[in-house]
Amino acid sequence: MFVLGAMLGFIFPVLFTGLVAYVIWNLYNLNRLSVWLIKPSKNTPEAIGLWDDVFYQLYTLHKRQKKSRKKLTKMLKRFQKSTQALPYATIVLNSANEIEWFNSASRQLFGLRSSLDIGQRVDNLIRQPEFIKYLSRREFDKPLEFENNHKKLLLNITGYGGGQYLLSATDITLQTQLDDMRRDFISNASHELRTPITVMSGYIEALQNNDDESISFPVDKIHQQTSRMEKIISELIELARLETSTVVVDELDIDINALLNEVHGEAISLDQGEHEIELDIVPIDITGNYNELRTAISNLMTNAIRYTPQGRNIILSTTSDEMGSYINVEDNGIGISYEHISRLTERFYRVDEGRSKEKGGTGLGLAIVKHILDRHGASLHVQSQIDKGSTFSCYFPHMH
Ligand code: ADP
Repeated sequence: MFVLGAMLGFIFPVLFTGLVAYVIWNLYNLNRLSVWLIKPSKNTPEAIGLWDDVFYQLYTLHKRQKKSRKKLTKMLKRFQKSTQALPYATIVLNSANEIEWFNSASRQLFGLRSSLDIGQRVDNLIRQPEFIKYLSRREFDKPLEFENNHKKLLLNITGYGGGQYLLSATDITLQTQLDDMRRDFISNASHELRTPITVMSGYIEALQNNDDESISFPVDKIHQQTSRMEKIISELIELARLETSTVVVDELDIDINALLNEVHGEAISLDQGEHEIELDIVPIDITGNYNELRTAISNLMTNAIRYTPQGRNIILSTTSDEMGSYINVEDNGIGISYEHISRLTERFYRVDEGRSKEKGGTGLGLAIVKHILDRHGASLHVQSQIDKGSTFSCYFPHMH
């Protein structure tokens, strides 16, 4: 008993001392780890056993992180450098419309200053009411054109990431001035030409009733050409008028039934029984300018008559689906091959110039249709197949 007691009395203090030493050693290494973590360096603390392993693993992790951080910083710098060089003013905004970053073109266009304007709300710095309204509405699918410091700007905003926005703007003053000049020139030239041609037409009509065929034949030809010129001029004037304002003046509910019946009646009298012209109306709601829309649908009907061989059908109809309402002019005429379709609304673009002229076309009808529809927030959709026919649909999207 005595021997056993002496042995136990000896082992416990030894075990206890060992344990205390072990705890102190661990605390010591933990302390070294915490010192190293505050300022990680290549020289990891020397250690043995498990601690050596821990130090090594942490060191490799730290090295990997450092490398990817370096790569990211490099990428960010490269991105910022290229965005700085962009000719567009580029501004990064957070969800509260505060400026997070901008490039040097923004300094010139909006007079932003890096030291003062980072963190400021962009609508405190760009004060134009149109811009403030556009920004607050949060509908950025269409760009905004507005004037700022006597410059005409085109501005786009794109949302990205977690509620951030990229605002980009470009100066379109010169382009707008050139557009205005072109439009004014065409409009002035057309107005100037109108009077002499009207005078010529008057004299030619007086000459037409001549019994001498050698005079009446050329006079008839001259009359045809002056009529054509008059038509081209009045359509050019109409186009210039449509272009000068992009907004429809009277936004009224349109009586589609009355409008389509009117166009249908006109088409029947123009057609003189060459085609079967049907009318198929379901109720649709459209607002805008009655006369402009009548011109547009009437141009489509004239084309259907022009480019559909005698005896075939033409249908003027309305339809609607969840996207919007449609006014359709469908014919089973000569059709248009695919490569021409996207260009039909260009001024003076014709698939077959000879046929268009022979039928009294000016090449401006669809350009007028497109402008009128643009002004109504609508668009023209064309489906066509050679020798099968064409459908021209005016699409009016539902307003939200
Ligand atoms: P145009 O006065 O020559 O008819 P438009 O601008 O109205 O000019 O139309 C442009 C061209 O589109 C026409 O010249 C014609 O080639 C083609 N086009 C228009 N409508 C039709 C149609 N319904 N069927 C076949 N071709 C058409």
